[in-house]
Amino acid sequence: MKNQIKITLGWIALLLISLFPVYLIFHYGSGTESLTNYASTTHFLGEIFGLVGMTMFALTFILSTRIKWLEDIFGGLDKVYITHAILGGTALIMILAHPIFLVLKFIPVDIDLAAKYILPSSYWSVNFGIIALVGMIALIFITLFTKMKYHRWKFTHEFLGLMFIFAVLHIFLVRGSISQDNIFNGYYIYAGIVSFIGLFGFSYSLFIKNRLFKNAVYKVKSINQKKDVFKIVISPEHKPILYKAGQFIFVRFYNENISKEAHPFSIASKTDDDNITIVAKMLGDYTNKLGNLKNGDKVSVEGPYGKFNYKRFSDSNQVWVAGGIGITPFIGMVQDVVNDNSFKGTVTLFYSVKSEEELIGDAMFKELSQESNKFAYIPWITSTNGRINIQKIFELSGRFRNKHFFLCGPTRFKESIINSLIKNGSSKRYIHEEVFDFR
Ligand SMILES: Cc1cc2nc3c(=O)[nH]c(=O)nc-3n(C[C@H](O)[C@H](O)[C@H](O)COP(=O)(O)OP(=O)(O)OC[C@H]3O[C@@H](n4cnc5c(N)ncnc54)[C@H](O)[C@@H]3O)c2cc1C
Repeated sequence: MKNQIKITLGWIALLLISLFPVYLIFHYGSGTESLTNYASTTHFLGEIFGLVGMTMFALTFILSTRIKWLEDIFGGLDKVYITHAILGGTALIMILAHPIFLVLKFIPVDIDLAAKYILPSSYWSVNFGIIALVGMIALIFITLFTKMKYHRWKFTHEFLGLMFIFAVLHIFLVRGSISQDNIFNGYYIYAGIVSFIGLFGFSYSLFIKNRLFKNAVYKVKSINQKKDVFKIVISPEHKPILYKAGQFIFVRFYNENISKEAHPFSIASKTDDDNITIVAKMLGDYTNKLGNLKNGDKVSVEGPYGKFNYKRFSDSNQVWVAGGIGITPFIGMVQDVVNDNSFKGTVTLFYSVKSEEELIGDAMFKELSQESNKFAYIPWITSTNGRINIQKIFELSGRFRNKHFFLCGPTRFKESIINSLIKNGSSKRYIHEEVFDFR
């Protein structure tokens, strides 16, 4: 409940900041007088959409900084990225509406002047705006509709920072009614603050963060491979990071055969263990190369992040459902929960894999379930038992009412369970998922 309030407040804060230009124009400018005829109304709306869109655009850069308090406000880094995506999409719509309304203003009187707002001309102040808009459309189109490799996608996504710089040039150089006629005195101060917010967010993620805050340094202690999965244990060089089981970190391995890009992995160790275990499945270019790691290789660790932890609901019975590699955040949580005297509920872990050889940590789960009466373990082999569904979960773990569900695994797997849970009367407040995809 407390979390929900924080998230709602976070969204309200974003909306209030984004809509601030509307307030300024109504307060200091001609406000409702601008709505007296077709030309002034379309012009007024065009400028409002432009400024609101620009503010939202600036805020998206702050949301991608991975600054810790953003996680606290939005309930986890995955939710921060979802907010970033929604705000980015809305900013694009607003910024698109900006020239449309300005064009609409002039279409009835002067078609050439109308074209000036959408076609390049000798007005560089407007051209900068056109470049920013076209670039934004292209880059967001790539984000939404193409299936390119993550590192390429990330590279292209970073060009949004360049588009923001063009947008900044546009809002400072353009002579609209707001800036020229001084509808409200604070236009340039406002434009300056918005530009600073966006440029700070962008440069913080790209240049400042890594220089300002040194990530924790670890070394590879051991690496083992079972089929297409690596178990990598890393140990701290100096001070270990403090984390809760179920959280995740961004790791950068320093090995000549592996890219230096930071990748997210769940911590598969119990809370605050000095050594951190990562269990990584070979899924693409990067993870396929992890076999090159050697003991002693340097590892930089950023984090921990994430809010995926049973402790937030210590009084309730819980069902944990893992699909395939989605077992990783549960590995440490199981080790915690069996020794956690403050936890008053029970946990049933369903672990779905195609075949028995794919099970990770099976022996440990079996042993802990025999030792503890608050933890039950149900491995689920789909090649013999068929897909797991909530009827089967219900038969094996009892009724759902007031049970908290923790889910991690492939998107479709999670979605089908979440949809069935909701259809069967479970509330979203009782469903918690870890997302293995930040795009
Ligand atoms: C919170 C979280 C926890 C995760 N925990 C685990 C885990 O415990 N074990 C495990 O095997 N996998 C985990 N993953 C997934 C893991 O990060 C990806 O499998 C890995 O980065 C794939 O990289 P690739 O180049 O080999 O594959 P690709 O084919 O290039 O990528 C596959 C998918 O992984 C994601 N991805 C790739 N690179 C990055 C990156 N640098 N940053 C963010 N996402 C990226 C993208 O969604 C991409 O579509 C986790 C992901 C997240 C977001």
